Amino acid sequence: MYIDFHCDSLMGVVNGDRRLIERGEGHLDLPRLKEAGALMQVFACFVDDEYVKKEAANRTLAMIDSFYKEAGNSGGLLRPVLSYDDLAAVKAGGGVGGMLSIEGGESLEGSLYILRSFYRLGVRAITLTWSRRNELGDGVGEDSGSGLTEFGRNVVKEMNRLGMIVDVSHLNEKGFWDVIDACGAPVIASHSDCKALCSNKRNLTDEQIRAIADADGVIGINFYAGFLNDDEGQAGMQDIVRHIDHIADVAGIDHVGFGSDFDGCHLPGDMSGAENMPAILHSLLDNGYGKDDVDKISYKNWERVIKRVLG
Ligand SMILES: [Zn+2]
Repeated sequence: MYIDFHCDSLMGVVNGDRRLIERGEGHLDLPRLKEAGALMQVFACFVDDEYVKKEAANRTLAMIDSFYKEAGNSGGLLRPVLSYDDLAAVKAGGGVGGMLSIEGGESLEGSLYILRSFYRLGVRAITLTWSRRNELGDGVGEDSGSGLTEFGRNVVKEMNRLGMIVDVSHLNEKGFWDVIDACGAPVIASHSDCKALCSNKRNLTDEQIRAIADADGVIGINFYAGFLNDDEGQAGMQDIVRHIDHIADVAGIDHVGFGSDFDGCHLPGDMSGAENMPAILHSLLDNGYGKDDVDKISYKNWERVIKRVLG
């Protein structure tokens, strides 16, 4: 059983290129998630460049709608998760939980009422920035060295009040530390790896990893080959174990989970998608992790954050 805190699969769904309910060519679909033992998959709403300037909220609404359409057509297989109780019900009753997140605060178009409206539609986590700069702050790809904007701080406060999970993946370093200061709840990095093992600017320093642990948050290991290994061509499933080992060493076993980036990343050569999850869990056991530790990494750490933040 596992929870994966990031995928970009809705991008293909909203474009009408694919369905979640049918076995397909992407990195995941509901039949494969079920077979792999997924307890819950987070589905990110990410707004492409072509929509970001003037239709970010509209595009996000289309993605949210595509998620609920798929859930409605899944015969109860995809079950929206809006609370810890929803997750517990999935665990007890079967099916695959689906949580909506927004990747990039552009979707809020600078308004807290849009944030609240997305909450009412079931969005429970927001990655404050993608790699671009937006109204909240700077992403790692457009880093001016400045931190969160006043609006960014207000978004964090409002998310704390509503019970939404604040996600720092993609955020620049100054913004990261501002979130650590401003956020009154566990902070997560939904899909980021360790800079000590791979120098990509999307990865986290050991100090950042410790700060997330101090905030009782979780780092979701990203399966993108270029974040797992400086030599992307050499990346393999074993690198996922290496990054988990590193976070466990630096911050403890309670602060690492999975954030695959399925359907949004280039996978290592020995991987193809969600069907690899059982092998990843096995390789943790083979590398000396006990059953309890594997349970923490695979779902219990995320479960703790969901319980604390969403209630
Ligand atoms: Zn991303």
